[in-house]
Amino acid sequence: MNEVTAFETVQKALKPIRYEHTVRVTEEATRLVGIYGGNLEKIRLAAILHDYAKHRPIIEMRRKVQTCDKLPNAMLDYGDEILHSFVGAVFIEEELFITDETILSCIRSHTTGKVSMSLEEKIVFLADYIEPGRTFRQAEEVRKISDENLDLACLTALGNTIQYLSNKQLPIYPDTFAAYNDFVLR
Ligand code: GDP
Ligand code: FE
Ligand code: FE
Ligand code: FE
Repeated sequence: MNEVTAFETVQKALKPIRYEHTVRVTEEATRLVGIYGGNLEKIRLAAILHDYAKHRPIIEMRRKVQTCDKLPNAMLDYGDEILHSFVGAVFIEEELFITDETILSCIRSHTTGKVSMSLEEKIVFLADYIEPGRTFRQAEEVRKISDENLDLACLTALGNTIQYLSNKQLPIYPDTFAAYNDFVLR
């Protein structure tokens, strides 16, 4: 799929505010590739498509988890916010016929992170966290770090997310801890 088609596809699937976020994530990811390298074409396509499933009915995403062997049912116990990344990757494969694992894995891990993140996965994860529309203090802090140290920026974003979720007494998906520990121990 080329970028023009990908942008058209998500423009139809997303509300305007979410589409504008997507455009900014793609620009931010491009900036990060300028600093850290990575496959620009794949990273941009993953960024364009990363929130493809964001507005799907929760019931449809939950049903997909229950019926799809690739999606562990355990993910249903960690809040509905995480579903669009994992289920989104499956929808993108099934509906848009994208099979490239580099692209799909960036989409899958963009919300929670995961252990052993690739350069491409780190860039999409971070771009989503620091795009200019994210105006909370922690995003500003991570944005500064992102100019110099990709891994430290990911670690800081993951630590912030864990703090945020635990302050609200929300469940935290194990992949988020795995990603955090992975960056700490590096
Ligand atoms: P967005 O889709 O562009 O809004 O950004 P994300 O894909 O990063 O999703 C952000 C939402 O997922 C926020 O509400 C986060 O607090 C939430 N989130 C991220 N990681 C976890 C997790 O491990 N557990 C839970 N329950 N929520 C999470
Ligand atoms: Fe998302
Ligand atoms: Fe399942
Ligand atoms: Fe996003």
